[in-house]
Amino acid sequence: MKKPKKPKRPMLAFAVTEIDDHTGGIVWARTKKAARIKGAARWGYDEPAYVTCRREPWADRFHSKPLPVWVMVANGWHFDCLGCGIRIDEDLPNWQDRCGADDTFRDMLREARRYRKWTPQCVIGHQHSDVFCSQDCKDADDAYRAACKRKEAHAISVFQAKVLKRFPGVTLVTDRDRMHPHAYATSRKRGIVVQQVSVEFEFPGMRYGPASLRWDSPFSSSYRKVEKPYFSCCNGDRAAFEAYAAATRRAAQEPTDRDHP
Ligand SMILES: [Zn+2]
Repeated sequence: MKKPKKPKRPMLAFAVTEIDDHTGGIVWARTKKAARIKGAARWGYDEPAYVTCRREPWADRFHSKPLPVWVMVANGWHFDCLGCGIRIDEDLPNWQDRCGADDTFRDMLREARRYRKWTPQCVIGHQHSDVFCSQDCKDADDAYRAACKRKEAHAISVFQAKVLKRFPGVTLVTDRDRMHPHAYATSRKRGIVVQQVSVEFEFPGMRYGPASLRWDSPFSSSYRKVEKPYFSCCNGDRAAFEAYAAATRRAAQEPTDRDHP
C-alpha cells in the first residue's frame, strides 16, 4: 500500500521589498522562505538578505492573475505615474500636501479639481505594467507617444528619401526588430522635436554591413555633436563606400545643413 501524498500547501502572497530603497512587490509562494528567494531574485540582487518579506493575505486571491495597482494602493503601496510623475498613494486627493511655496493659487486649484473625484480605483495598470494615476493621464500619455511616433516616422521617411536621392541604386534596410531605421523624438520647450534619426542602406560593393545616414540633435546625449546629417559605414567597407560615393557623386547632392528633420 502506498503512503498517501501530502496535500500541497496553497500559494500565499508575500510582500518583498529591498531593505534600503524599499522597492518591491508581491510574490506568491508556498513558504515565506521561498517567497524571499523569489523576491530577492527580482528586487534584491539575488541576495535574500537584501530584502524583507511579510505576509499579505489580501493579495492571495490574485495568484496567477494580474494584480491591479489600485488594490495595492488601497493596501498601502505607492507608485509613480508614468504620465505626470505624481506619486500615487491613498493620499493623492489631498492636494494641500503636495503644494509648495512656488505653487500659485491657480496650480493649487488645478490640482484640487483634477483629483476631486479620484479614488484608488481610478489608477490604471497592474503590478508589472505601466501605471497611470487616471484614465485622463493615460490618454494624454498615449496621445503624446502617438505624436512622437508620427514625428519619428516622418523623419525616417525624409531621411530615406535623401538616401535614395543621393544613392538611387541602394537598398534601404527595414529590419524593425533590430531598430533599423531608427528615430527618436521627445518633448522640448517648443513641443515635440526629433532628436536623432538614422537610416541604413546596403550599397553595391558592401561586405561587412549597411552604411547609414544619421543626424543627432546637438541637444541629444550622443557623443557626436554635429549639426549636419552625415553618412557613415563599417570601417572595413570604407574604401568600397568611398569609391561608390565618388562614382555616383556627379548626379548627387550632399545633404545640407538645411536638411534637419
Ligand atoms: Zn498621472
